[in-house]
Amino acid sequence: MTHEQSRDLYDRALSVLPGGVNSAVRAAIEPYPPFVERGDDGHVIDADGNRYIDWVMGLGPLLYGHDTPQPVEAAIQSHASEGPMYGMPTEIEVEHAEFVARHVPSVEMLRFVNSGTEATVSACRLARAHTGRDKIVVMQGGYHGAQETTLVEGEYDDTRPSSPGIPQSFADETLAIPFNDEEAAHRVFEDYGDEIAGVLVEPILANYGIVRPVDGYHETLRDLTDEHDSLLIFDEVITGFRVGGLQCAQGKFGIEPDLTTFGKLIGGGFPVGAIGGPARLMEQFTPSGDVFQAGTFSGHPVTMAAGLESLRYAAEHDVHDHIHDLGEQLRHGLAEIVEEQAPSYTVTGTDGMFKLVFTRGAPDSFEDHCEGGCAQREDCPRYDHCPKTGADVAAGETDRWRRVFWPKMKDEGVFLSQNQFESQFVTYAHTDEDVETTLEAYKEAL
Ligand code: PMP
Repeated sequence: MTHEQSRDLYDRALSVLPGGVNSAVRAAIEPYPPFVERGDDGHVIDADGNRYIDWVMGLGPLLYGHDTPQPVEAAIQSHASEGPMYGMPTEIEVEHAEFVARHVPSVEMLRFVNSGTEATVSACRLARAHTGRDKIVVMQGGYHGAQETTLVEGEYDDTRPSSPGIPQSFADETLAIPFNDEEAAHRVFEDYGDEIAGVLVEPILANYGIVRPVDGYHETLRDLTDEHDSLLIFDEVITGFRVGGLQCAQGKFGIEPDLTTFGKLIGGGFPVGAIGGPARLMEQFTPSGDVFQAGTFSGHPVTMAAGLESLRYAAEHDVHDHIHDLGEQLRHGLAEIVEEQAPSYTVTGTDGMFKLVFTRGAPDSFEDHCEGGCAQREDCPRYDHCPKTGADVAAGETDRWRRVFWPKMKDEGVFLSQNQFESQFVTYAHTDEDVETTLEAYKEAL
């Protein structure tokens, strides 16, 4: 495999794009990231003509891999050629909102925006306006986009901005607690209950090695927010319409949040975000209410067409079943390989998401195969070993993963997501053969 074109492109990029990229994670690969020329089904071809099985899949927005179904393609083409946008309302926005509201019981109304970041910004603003309070509880290791309220680190009574440029006074309004720690959730509400506008939480920590909720955790958050008149905000930017299929993760876990943020899949590969919830909350946004919210590109017709037709196609075909089946094959296959070759590592994931987390230290017993994610059940022999918080994942061998493992997998013709924390995504375009080849590559690399 040669990578000269990618190297040269990166060299050019370094002169005009900070760090050579437009989103930080893309440069995590050293000495330079492969530049993609095009996609083909479950694969990508780089600028040097090398072909890889692609499990990055745009970091979440692609349900069909790089093989857009014909009706989705047709809808995109037709909306692109008819405008492409107007700054005035269109029917396709209404249809898309109707589709989401029909499938997600907690959602009566939606406000479409252009990114997951915008969605979580507006959800926090709405929660603060609705409650008249300022504090937002987030999970350590959770990610809600490049926004001022949630880019924090530290403990909840000592939270600092995690990036220069964010005032400490902003971080003072954010309370970060460990995911899956019910005691910490109770404590933060005991200490700050009447100041908390909302709890913003991914149903599954999907940006941190994929950490599933332990039984009862979301119920505890639901109860605490209800008791204290705060809002429970589920960030389903990654899980929405992926985990739990069309009912989303909230349907899978049987929890009804007050607000939900969406992104990724609802735009069918185009820039998107959305906030959803009951009319009594959503109508507080301008122009029906006074909580300011606006965007030139919001509800963009091409995005709406791509997103709606993608979801419609999934509703009418075995898309989620296929993705779930391949996800299971990957997690089971990986668990077997890991048990044999790297017993201190953990397979995580659910539905169409999977990851191998380089946790340290061998567990006491291996009576069962780890099936991925299930290890977070207390009756599992690996329970003590499996990551349950963001910190558990961060304590893994991130450097080995990045410097040795990722490049080796790439040499085997498999693209994994660019760091130890980001999830990998199965799509309808992936095949049994892709799974087999990938498992062989893991065997070789490990
Ligand atoms: N929330 C979650 C859970 C995410 O995973 C992401 C992005 N990966 C965001 C919000 C931000 O979305 P975007 O990158 O579209 O701004």
